[in-house]
Amino acid sequence: MKKISVIVSCYNEEKALPLFYAEMEKVRTTDFADVNVKFEYIFINDGSSDQTLEIIKHLATQDSKVKYISFSRNFGKEAAMLAGLEASTGDYITIMDADLQDPPALLRQMYDEITVGGYDRVGTRRVSRKGEPPIRSFFARRFYKLINKMSDVQMVDGARDYWLMTRQVADALISLKEYNRYSKGLNSFIGFDTKWIEYENVERVAGETKWSFWKLFKYAIEGITAFSTVPLILSSLVGLVFCLVAFIAIIFIIIRTLIYGDPTSGWPSLVCIIVFVSGIQLFSIGIIGQYLSKTYLEVKKRPIYIIKEQNLDTHKTKS
Ligand code: UDP
Ligand code: MG
Repeated sequence: MKKISVIVSCYNEEKALPLFYAEMEKVRTTDFADVNVKFEYIFINDGSSDQTLEIIKHLATQDSKVKYISFSRNFGKEAAMLAGLEASTGDYITIMDADLQDPPALLRQMYDEITVGGYDRVGTRRVSRKGEPPIRSFFARRFYKLINKMSDVQMVDGARDYWLMTRQVADALISLKEYNRYSKGLNSFIGFDTKWIEYENVERVAGETKWSFWKLFKYAIEGITAFSTVPLILSSLVGLVFCLVAFIAIIFIIIRTLIYGDPTSGWPSLVCIIVFVSGIQLFSIGIIGQYLSKTYLEVKKRPIYIIKEQNLDTHKTKS
């Protein structure tokens, strides 16, 4: 019998979790009633400060399908998704948000695309950003345009982290051991035949979004530095152009001095040039610093997450 692992990362989701569990169970018992498949749920408590872990533990006592991993602190959704993938034992693996923004009702359609359609994985894409602050949608759209110009790995605008994939795809994702994980990029990087399912944006059932504008901005920088070296090339190019300009200016000044003598003028323009050029230099050093700091973190080989408790008896034995 085939098994589907449902991975759900939860950070302060006490309000949404019971609703999620009820909805997922409904889908399991109705939509999947005619196929011979069993389920396991893997909840990852990403250092929540509310009752999330208690709720998960309570579910685990009632339902033997429920497995959980609880982190020692908040490590972020990327780390939680990796932990879930590593702990999963299913033949098919799906990753979902706890807030029902990734509708479990789509799961059967996704399952059929893989088992009947022959795809390796199915991704979901929201075609609208209804219910999202307009400013956030605006910057998100610009970001995808920018990163797709800068990177060889193409990223799909509106793609969610809601996937159903075969074991092979999950193992490929697990094999990417990088510390700075940007899963939208990692997912394009590994390849495989992907079917995209589109749907209208659904608003969160309960609780609040964990992504502030600043957090998203940092995540965007992460995406750019992880999948593109174009900023480094740009800063070298700008440096080169400025050297050329300076060279031409020096020749111009020498010739002018030889013809007209040397009146001591031009201090303000000199100050402007110095300030401008130092600005460009600092900016370029900043870009290099971004890459260096990512490399520094990568080289340290710190664990991506630390588990405090879990109820997975056989962590790595597949059943
Ligand atoms: N999440 C997490 N760790 C974090 C932030 C978020 O595990 O540090 C989880 C969160 O509980 C939810 C999912 O990631 O299940 C998506 O988060 P959210 O709904 O806040 O993001 P949005 O849908 O607004 O982009
Ligand atoms: Mg959400």
